[in-house]
Amino acid sequence: MDTRYIFVTGGVVSSLGKGIISSSIARLLLSRGFSVTIQKFDPYINIDPGTLNPYEHGECYVTVDGHEADLDLGHYERFTNIKTTRANNITTGRVYQSVIDKERRGDYLGKTVQIIPHITDEIKRDVKLLANKHKYDFVITEIGGTVGDIESTPFLEAVRQLKWELGNRCVCVHLTYVPYIKAAKELKTKPTQHSVKMLQQVGIQPDILVLRTEKVIPQSICRKVAQFCNVSVEAVTQSVDCPTIYEVPLMMHAQKLDNIILEKTGTPYSGEPDLVKWNKFLDHMKNATEVVTVGLVGKYVELQDAYKSIDESLLQAATYHDRKLQIKYISSEKLNDGNVEEQLADMDGVIVAPGFGVRGTEGKFVALKWCREHDVPTFGICLGMQCMVIEYARDVLGMAEANSTELDPNTPYNVIDLMEEQKSVTNMGGTMRLGAYACHLQPGTKVAQAYGTLDIEERHRHRFEFNDEYRQQFEDAGMKCVGENPDTHLVEVVEVPSKKWYIGTQYHPEYSSTVLNPHPLFMSFIEAAIANKKDKEATKQQ
Ligand code: GLN
Repeated sequence: MDTRYIFVTGGVVSSLGKGIISSSIARLLLSRGFSVTIQKFDPYINIDPGTLNPYEHGECYVTVDGHEADLDLGHYERFTNIKTTRANNITTGRVYQSVIDKERRGDYLGKTVQIIPHITDEIKRDVKLLANKHKYDFVITEIGGTVGDIESTPFLEAVRQLKWELGNRCVCVHLTYVPYIKAAKELKTKPTQHSVKMLQQVGIQPDILVLRTEKVIPQSICRKVAQFCNVSVEAVTQSVDCPTIYEVPLMMHAQKLDNIILEKTGTPYSGEPDLVKWNKFLDHMKNATEVVTVGLVGKYVELQDAYKSIDESLLQAATYHDRKLQIKYISSEKLNDGNVEEQLADMDGVIVAPGFGVRGTEGKFVALKWCREHDVPTFGICLGMQCMVIEYARDVLGMAEANSTELDPNTPYNVIDLMEEQKSVTNMGGTMRLGAYACHLQPGTKVAQAYGTLDIEERHRHRFEFNDEYRQQFEDAGMKCVGENPDTHLVEVVEVPSKKWYIGTQYHPEYSSTVLNPHPLFMSFIEAAIANKKDKEATKQQ
């Protein structure tokens, strides 16, 4: 079948959850047996979000092919179970870079290079390239930003042209917001009408509306929206706040969003999507009563999206263990020897987060020492793993000033050091060790047991590494290097086997945990946290 294209645009305000709606549509179409991919266009000028700090756009997600991507790609993978690549996330910066490179090569043969047609053609090429590469049945393209933003104008122009060229093989799903005005006790549709008008002004007639709302919108209001916006009434759907984002596909299916898309794109279909496994996951989530509490120690804890993939990986693992997950976000900047007991005593397990720079690292060492001494299941990820190594060196190996050269370039014990190939790097963008690399695990270790295999591949995003010169000293003192890259022998996993669960990974397992395939290490960590909780309860009762 010819590829169908679904464009997801947003109006009124940002943060309405275009990523979740795109992911939900993908989930429903996949569950009907179609092949699907999702792509995000980000209107900012950065080439990728790799150079942005989490205050700007939350977590930076990493694809297997080493692209630093928008966190929505994490949602896409978690919902669809399909790996994304560099081609799934394109920014204005990248579009321009590619056009400018072509201009310098002389590809435009003396023409004046302009936004229309050159930039818009490049955008259209990126949409179609993705479709042609794998012959997908559906390509869902999420346009970042809000209709009316100057930055997103070229993307919308490309959508307009594609809609014109491809006819009904192309639909536009527009997500808007219907606010509830408490004082008037009314849901207001005017912002939606305005944002649809704005889309129409740039020549795009939305085919389907998804109204984000905190309260259920009565049918009479949907009819009114339909009338004002030239959209058929059954294509005016709503996305009401719900307890978990993973319910959104079901909520949208209940309103036949998938059927409407299939009909509007002239796609033959029959029956219902197979959501058995998805529903099972949600049942586990709804029926879980017992709680497992995990402390997340990091410097961006006040930011909702900074540790998105870790949050979701923990939730997935807890759900499969029939537990309600409670995450306590603990600011590593505020953690010290005086308050660590009070902060961590109730944690069943602790995660020490990834990160860059020295801010908050001393608090991470405090947390790690406390967890190690109190034998709390502890999971260090990337910088968290590096901090595990440093803390162990300081406290167990007697190297009081041990550090990473990232945090203290003059440390006498550089147990974490800049990777050799990083030493000549001057550009900051896209130059880390990025993407999936192989790792060989030592048999008989907790990690090997968790994975159920010795050869794995995991995604990375770092410049510093475990300094191999100290390997023997760590091993002798009880911290084992249990996973390494088979080619470079870079240490990827450390484990203290005498502890219940004290493991650090140089890689980021959180990028590859999905609803249907929870990550084995998170599964194992949560299992250890649950066991630890039981131990604590048993000792209390004695
Ligand atoms: N800052 C560390 C490094 O570059 C860790 C990076 C991370 O946690 N993602 O090696």
